[in-house]
Amino acid sequence: QASTQLLRFITCGSVDDGKSTLLGRLLYDTGMVPDDQLAALARDSRKLHADTPDALDFSLLTDGLDAERQQGITIDVAYRYFHSARRSFIVADCPGHEQYTRNMATGASNAGLAVVLIDARKGVLPQTRRHTYICALMGIRQVVVAVNKMDLVDWREDIYAAIAHEYRELAAQLGIAQVHCLPAVAPSGDNVGRRSDRMGWYEGPCLLELLESADTAPAQGTEFRMPVQWVNRPDASFRGYAGTVCGGRVAVGDEVVVQPAMRRARIERIVTADGDLPHASEGQAVTLTLDREIDVSRGDVIADAARPAPVADQFAAHVLWMGDEPLLPNRAYWLKIGTRTVNARVTTIKHKVDVNTQAELAARRLELNEVGYCNIDLDHAIAFESYADNRTLGGFVLIDRQTNATVGCGMLDFALRRAANVH
Ligand code: GDP
Repeated sequence: QASTQLLRFITCGSVDDGKSTLLGRLLYDTGMVPDDQLAALARDSRKLHADTPDALDFSLLTDGLDAERQQGITIDVAYRYFHSARRSFIVADCPGHEQYTRNMATGASNAGLAVVLIDARKGVLPQTRRHTYICALMGIRQVVVAVNKMDLVDWREDIYAAIAHEYRELAAQLGIAQVHCLPAVAPSGDNVGRRSDRMGWYEGPCLLELLESADTAPAQGTEFRMPVQWVNRPDASFRGYAGTVCGGRVAVGDEVVVQPAMRRARIERIVTADGDLPHASEGQAVTLTLDREIDVSRGDVIADAARPAPVADQFAAHVLWMGDEPLLPNRAYWLKIGTRTVNARVTTIKHKVDVNTQAELAARRLELNEVGYCNIDLDHAIAFESYADNRTLGGFVLIDRQTNATVGCGMLDFALRRAANVH
């Protein structure tokens, strides 16, 4: 059953590691390339590589952006949809250049898995460490390491094994629980869409098989939570609260609490475009009606009454800065979390983290692409979860109040001060 679900994943690697080729090969191997596109691919490949007229350059299938072609680098997160016989996928193709850490964080924030490419000739690089750190920071707990270009190291098992060993140690340091390594050759598709017979020493599954069997959903906890996206009140007889369930499951008749004000009610109906449902679970967009008139607005969280979310207005959090101007302590920003927007200040930058080495350094400000561990004060208490438990209720963005630009993203760690009126 799990295999029919959608897996969101990201690919990371340094420039030239073979990301585009690997992704193009996956599209080809899953039959996602229609005949006319295949003909164009053969024509373009011949034009670009006169020395190997019969070989297909699969990177042409994915290096679509004009700007990317001109500059020879990937400049933004490109999302691509494909499917195999067993499962659908959305892949965020993440850039390898350092200045695009923010794009990678964006791609990783809703991914359940990362494919990390390593060039077999180069091994684990500082970039590999940085990408893995960002993945861990953004809550990714499953990584597939594709040690690519095995043909250029004579298919040697010892080289592969040393890289896999080094990567596993890195991942363990960063708290990534599930790591699967495989040796690959992207252009010929060895261990991409099918198992290779040229590396008999590797007996594991190919990349596609791993993607088909991976866990699809990032952890969202088991308790019912739904941030209210909007209040639907077409006339006096109907009042519903629309949103997407971001944790657990809810059924008609369940007792819920509307947070942060903690007003209680029971679920009367669960309405969808296709009719009423007896229950709804994580990921479903629904409109809930309650058995009594209570005050509910956009940004509130409807939660299991027996196990509500904690409510607080001061937090410790990781912040990844995406603004061109630095993050300054005590400056006011909008903080958007779930469907709620409040005023926020970073009161203290406790340290910043060197994304290449994970060393903790003193800092008075955070510059573009820097990560800091900070104390944050809000002007209103909110219902929240730690990011590790629930990405929706623990993940936030910071917005510049003058320009409305998103200047940072963050991950709540724990509350420094709980709201007094909540148990
Ligand atoms: P990206 O920058 O990570 O997207 O890398 P590309 O997919 O554009 O690949 C960079 C270069 O490496 C291209 O010339 C590819 O043909 C080549 N390449 C990719 N994978 C392999 C591989 O497994 N073996 C060999 N020999 N070349 C590869």
